[in-house]
Amino acid sequence: MSLSFSKIKVLHVASEMHPIVKKGGLGDVIGSLPKAQRELGVDSRVLLPLYPNVSNNIKENLKKISRKLYIPLEWRVFPASLWRTNIQGVPVYLLDIEDVPFPAEIYPNLLNMDLIKPFFLLSLAAIEFEKASRWRPQIFHLHDWPTSSVAIALKWHMYYSSLSGLYDTVLTIHNLAHQGIMQETDLISWGIPKEAHNIEGLEYYGMTNLLKGGIIASDAVTTVSPRYSWEIQTKEYGMGLDGVLKQYSNKLRGILNGIDYSYWNPKTDPLIPAHYDVEDIAPKRKCREELLSRCGWSEDGSPILIYVGRLAEQKGIDLILLSIEPIVGHGCKMIILGEGSEIYERALKKASLQFPTNLFVKIGYDEELAHLMYAGGDMLIMPSYFEPCGLAQLIAMRYGTVPICRATGGLADTVIDADTACDGTGFLFSSYSSEAFLHAIGRALGAWNSTKLWNQIVQNCMRADFSWSRSSREYVNLYLELLGVPEHEDNVKPNFNA
Ligand code: ADP
Repeated sequence: MSLSFSKIKVLHVASEMHPIVKKGGLGDVIGSLPKAQRELGVDSRVLLPLYPNVSNNIKENLKKISRKLYIPLEWRVFPASLWRTNIQGVPVYLLDIEDVPFPAEIYPNLLNMDLIKPFFLLSLAAIEFEKASRWRPQIFHLHDWPTSSVAIALKWHMYYSSLSGLYDTVLTIHNLAHQGIMQETDLISWGIPKEAHNIEGLEYYGMTNLLKGGIIASDAVTTVSPRYSWEIQTKEYGMGLDGVLKQYSNKLRGILNGIDYSYWNPKTDPLIPAHYDVEDIAPKRKCREELLSRCGWSEDGSPILIYVGRLAEQKGIDLILLSIEPIVGHGCKMIILGEGSEIYERALKKASLQFPTNLFVKIGYDEELAHLMYAGGDMLIMPSYFEPCGLAQLIAMRYGTVPICRATGGLADTVIDADTACDGTGFLFSSYSSEAFLHAIGRALGAWNSTKLWNQIVQNCMRADFSWSRSSREYVNLYLELLGVPEHEDNVKPNFNA
């Protein structure tokens, strides 16, 4: 495809974007990557579902585009409206489909055609999008299974496949654990012919797998850290798709996530009680005091270990549960914020009743408390079984809170063990066991006892750069490759807006 080299036009099609809707790291990425790309001169925009529970704040700033979209599915046509808003300079479009609401909880547990249908319609709407927006993307950047059907439709759909030459597609896998699998295999009413339902297509052990189809159909596939891009080609981490990922490894690459350094900034964060940076870390103490008082505790000088994240098996919650007693036995304080599996929620709540002076657990999603924890904590624990990139450790480092992580995926790519390097930023362990986890915590507590060493590690954390500056360039280079312009660092320097 030829490039009229004034501007690269990219439409991110996604199911989350902070601050409109966020369940985890994907929301952070869509809330920050397009913005970083626009700073490089790329015309990046975002297409999202209009969820029924979107906040009034957001609703008040939506403008309806007068032209409608008409999306063909199941032998009828679904009219849909696009609402436009602007989030920090990024044009964002929200799709509202008549008769087909998007699910308020976003990701239902057990998927079927009915539950996937809104996301399939969103994917077809992305291809129809230019008819209402009057803006044609050159590249569709897709994120996880909810939008991988854009690539599927461009490859196999009875009608849309004829448009495949007009666009390039990039699929980013944020988490291979979620693949969009459904029992149904007869997708003819969705425009996908039977021929696509084979081992070289959407078929997956007799079911339909949208992520697999997206991997095969996309022009490029990325994951959110280099290490995870290798791990998912192994049986242990491949979640049943290692064979497919190995087969298509020539179009697979790992590009590390960044975080928005203007949002996650202890110097300016409006959600924390005192502001600090690497030149003057002292006010972090005030955040610590506020955090302790939020938990009903007073200052006793003990280290505060925090966990912020989903309560899912992937995150190593079993190891956290097994480690609570020895950690609090050491006199540490633990603060846990998260929601997810009911079993973990109950077990953590129960433990907090057992150790009320040392363990505080808040079940739920709480952006404000999360900021206070990152600012007021001393160490972040993240013993994940697997971790595609992980943002919590990047945020913690930005706030001078030292991560203790299992050396997997993006955790291994972003944390440097402080016992092995003078620019160390945290403590890593390899074996997935509570012994190994506790040993790493023990090493961290050893460092904590030496104020000079600890301050050095905290400063190393705060000096590490995980802003989007490098990674957003890597994405631009990938876009340029797809558009047929040779990859070169200089390619991202000219101002494409000119
Ligand atoms: P995930 O696997 O969920 O994407 P990440 O570490 O990549 O994990 O990103 C998680 C993001 O969601 C971080 O910004 C973290 O602060 C936020 N987060 C997760 N759970 C909660 C919660 N219960 N309350 C507030 N923020 C949360």
